[in-house]
Amino acid sequence: MATFASAMEAISKDTGITTLTDIPTGGSCIISKVHGHGGFRHRIMEMGFVKGERVDVIKNAPLMDPVEYSIMGSHVSLRRSESDNIEVVPLEEGYHPDFDFNGTIEAHVAREVETTAKTITVALVGNPNCGKTSFFNFATGLREKVGNYSGVTVSSKVGTFYHKGYTINLVDLPGTYSLTEYSPEELYVRDYLLNHNPDLVLNIVDAGNLERNMYLTTQLIDMNPRLVMALNMYDELEQSGDKLDIPSLEKMLGFPIVPVVARTGKGVEDVLEQIVHTYCDEEGYTKHIHINYGENVEDCISSVKELIDEDGYLRDRYHGRYLALELIQGDKVITKSISKVPGFAEIKEAADRSRARLEKEYRNDISDIVSDIRYGFIRGALKETLTPAKEDKRKLAYALDTVLTNRYLGFPILIIFLWIMFQTTFTLGAYPQQWLETGIGALGRWIGSILPEGMLNDLLVDGVISGVGGVLVFLPNILILFMFISFLEDTGYMARAAFIMDKLMHRIGLHGKSFIPYIIGFGCGVPAIMATRTLENPKDRILTILTIPFMSCSARLPVYLLFVAAFFSRQQGLVLMSLYLVGIVFAILTSLLLNKTVFKNASDQFVMELPPYRFPTVRNILVHMWDKSVLYLKKMGTVILAASVIIWALGYFPRPKTEMTRAEQNEYSYIGRIGHAIEPVVRPLGFDWRMGVSLATGLAAKEVVVSSLGVLYEAQEVDGDETAGLQEKLKSVTADDGSAFFTPLRAYTFLLFILLYFPCIAAITAIAKEAGRKWAAFSVVYTTCLAWIVSFIFWHIGLIL
Ligand code: GDP
Ligand code: MG
Repeated sequence: MATFASAMEAISKDTGITTLTDIPTGGSCIISKVHGHGGFRHRIMEMGFVKGERVDVIKNAPLMDPVEYSIMGSHVSLRRSESDNIEVVPLEEGYHPDFDFNGTIEAHVAREVETTAKTITVALVGNPNCGKTSFFNFATGLREKVGNYSGVTVSSKVGTFYHKGYTINLVDLPGTYSLTEYSPEELYVRDYLLNHNPDLVLNIVDAGNLERNMYLTTQLIDMNPRLVMALNMYDELEQSGDKLDIPSLEKMLGFPIVPVVARTGKGVEDVLEQIVHTYCDEEGYTKHIHINYGENVEDCISSVKELIDEDGYLRDRYHGRYLALELIQGDKVITKSISKVPGFAEIKEAADRSRARLEKEYRNDISDIVSDIRYGFIRGALKETLTPAKEDKRKLAYALDTVLTNRYLGFPILIIFLWIMFQTTFTLGAYPQQWLETGIGALGRWIGSILPEGMLNDLLVDGVISGVGGVLVFLPNILILFMFISFLEDTGYMARAAFIMDKLMHRIGLHGKSFIPYIIGFGCGVPAIMATRTLENPKDRILTILTIPFMSCSARLPVYLLFVAAFFSRQQGLVLMSLYLVGIVFAILTSLLLNKTVFKNASDQFVMELPPYRFPTVRNILVHMWDKSVLYLKKMGTVILAASVIIWALGYFPRPKTEMTRAEQNEYSYIGRIGHAIEPVVRPLGFDWRMGVSLATGLAAKEVVVSSLGVLYEAQEVDGDETAGLQEKLKSVTADDGSAFFTPLRAYTFLLFILLYFPCIAAITAIAKEAGRKWAAFSVVYTTCLAWIVSFIFWHIGLIL
């Protein structure tokens, strides 16, 4: 280690400070200070980057940024710009804690909550990846009832089941590392716990990662709900050889701790048992404790709490100690939430005074003081109860990384995985898709034959069945795609893909995790938009959602194929590829533009956990697929149904009084009138009214453009192959001067427009759901204006040339 020590010395001499970026791969050090502010600082603190903690530098991503570190027994990757904020000292200098371990204080207040009701609402709270969903799925089994809570980006599921005569409502909340105001997930969970008053909180912790997982536990203890802890992944703890003295830890914390293996269901019954037991708590079975924050902080808490307790409203509604602690920490949301009470000014003043006093005393930021004490408490508690194994066997769980994030192999392997995913999705999915298509076609013909000719017949066959059926046929592809995504997420590979891609994605202002939704976007925008949920930062999520529509989805392919085959006799593959590339270029430009404008000041952080590799359970994957398909069928099915009926009706009415050909009827119908109305808008691009109408019908689904063109240019079917007939028809359309109307230039301009303009209604709905209506509206307007401008420029430059 001589070379390493001297390297560090040289760096220290150079700048005076050593930061985590200076430590070479394979090196280790101790954190001495963390810089930066607000959300970022908080985020790395909750991931375990706190003073006194040991960090091992594992490896660089293939493009040298980000870097993977091992901290508190888990792996976390940081961008270099982020690890620059962490000051470190050599291991030998060791750790000198600022705060002693003070243990807990036994509280004397009894909980005055009604417990005679036979319904228990249990909130599941825990870190991301600690096995919450596995537990939820196991406990609720197939009796699961999926319900969405309000909120655009965060949602939770509720499962209801029965145990020993009690009805238990289990609420699966989003995973969080702590409960502050810095992320929507954290705010959501905190708000749920404070305002929905669950009867009991089930804290799920990853037994192999106690130090970091228990940070959240300390915050829960402060909030003072009834608590039960499920010590999940107990199998991994046992394998690692670590020994945990559960009874001692239970005694110290005052609530039951139950070992669980959520994946196999072992211990789940015991947890339910403890939930009922703790809820009833006949024999004063659980103790009620506070974390001892040490004399200075405790003094401050008491002085603020005294004022809080004077207010009847606050006393009834909040746990005084928790409120005091949050006010002292200056939490803006909580401060605002009580700003209406009469004694507010006085309370706030006392809290501000306390904060100033503590910050002066410890010469540190209040949030650091509190988190240092919390981590000090956890270290103290674990020191007394956890005996680590001689060697760390958990390293094995990361062994695959030597290959999967290898500097040379990382990218090729990623590409191979993606290739397999797409091939399977589209080739394997093509079989059930074919069956569904045949089935739906047969259903349409059957209904068409049994119903008397007339409006109802037309509505069902041309409107409902062909419209809804057109979307239903994508279900197999979606299921297969989500099977892969679920697999990649559960095994932990998704985080690695983000790790590898981050440097490239960051150049265009995005997060490594945006990569996967983009890839999915080439298949279909709807699951891609849903997949952005894995992005934690709202800015990254919205940017990714807004740029996904530029990835040519598979529904645009039929339109591309039609025109490319008809009007480009040579280099067809190249023309097709150029469209995909143009889409990617506009995604990049859009992202850069929005980053420079709307999101100029948005925080931008990478900090991501690289979980150990785990083998996913079939059960989890199936549940995941089921959830997705229900969403797809329900949400998109209703919208598509409505859209299909509307488009059908617009083409069907008003009924002509005299006999008309189909083409004449089209021009006569509302859709034809709309077409003529919008013609002035599309004329500058070289489009006629029929092209304008077909573009508009693309709102329902992009494939519809082909069928609309078919109707509007009145294609004759050639041997049942509609597109072949349409190709000939399009080729024979003539302009006023008798020359061919469609030239390669006109065709390509049209395809550019198809590529860029508004997404289909299903995608717009998905955007509205994930990012809010405002962004959905923005997306429609922005993409359409962009399409118009680009097509206009292209068309006119083309005409000149
Ligand atoms: P969530 O993010 O908290 O909802 O966690 P998940 O339920 O998605 O689980 C994350 C990963 O841990 C998955 O790969 C699970 O299969 C795995 N897992 C969950 N519980 C256990 C367990 O008790 N033991 C082991 N070894 N793995 C588990
Ligand atoms: Mg989950």
